[in-house]
Amino acid sequence: MTDKDKRFPLPLSSVVEKSRKAAQATPASAKVATPQTATQNAARNMQRAPVSSALPPAAPPRAAPQAIPSNRANALVSDAVRTAMVTRVARQGVKDSKVLAALDAVPRHMFVEPGLWSQAYIDASLPIGHHQTISQPYIVARMIEVMRANGNGGVLGKVLEIGTGCGYQAAVLSLVAKEVYSIERIKPLHELAKSNLRPLRIANIRLQYGDGMLGLPQAAPFDGIILAAAGMEVPQALLDQMSIGGRLVAPVGARHQVLQLIERVSKFEWINTTLEDCHFVPLRPGVM
Ligand code: SAH
Repeated sequence: MTDKDKRFPLPLSSVVEKSRKAAQATPASAKVATPQTATQNAARNMQRAPVSSALPPAAPPRAAPQAIPSNRANALVSDAVRTAMVTRVARQGVKDSKVLAALDAVPRHMFVEPGLWSQAYIDASLPIGHHQTISQPYIVARMIEVMRANGNGGVLGKVLEIGTGCGYQAAVLSLVAKEVYSIERIKPLHELAKSNLRPLRIANIRLQYGDGMLGLPQAAPFDGIILAAAGMEVPQALLDQMSIGGRLVAPVGARHQVLQLIERVSKFEWINTTLEDCHFVPLRPGVM
């Protein structure tokens, strides 16, 4: 790969070629999409990562390495397929062209295991292991669009994401904000996000392992905060870490969830607006 190829966003040809090689080099490439195979994939990635203390024993290889024929891989993960996804997201009401361009630039298939590549560009959440999911592209775009609609022409300095998961939304955020901080409470997912993001060489993302309900006071204040998991209410610590004029977007609720926008208008004043129904995994305290 040349230096030119390493720039983000990567040319898709290099991404497909790299992912195909990775799939060939990895034992027991999963062909069937299940949360279990996503978990195994996370475990495999953990093995390659420098920090592996929390690693569960990897499942023994069950089959010979599966090669994905390059023509098939290309068909599954082409630019055209991703652009069609972006068109559908726009048709659902997302208008911010910068957000749509960011969605078009991030190779979402690189954030799911090869067995799920054929589904990477449908507008759905998908399993990433540990009972968690990569968020639906529409809701990723919608939340970022709402966060960008600030009094500052969409300019965002520091933003914070709670719930890194596989790192997809952090990658999209990196194209619309100067600095992205993202916290994940499940160690293997924090490691998975690191290994997913590494080949993209994105300089402005900082991943943090910890309880996002506490925020990241050492990096606050944030112009934008996005929660990728739903609590019964937005933790006060996060409200306190917003800049004046900052915007926080969060799913709130249990079985019935709504997307809420909270704007900080002064030191002691926040305005809350309910936007639309949504469905997220739960926000949980502590780490594991
Ligand atoms: N942002 C992801 C979505 C991940 S799903 C994407 O790009 O698709 C939501 C994630 O929130 C899960 O990985 C879950 O472990 C995490 N989460 C839940 N509660 C959390 C908390 N208190 N702190 C940090 N992460 C949390």
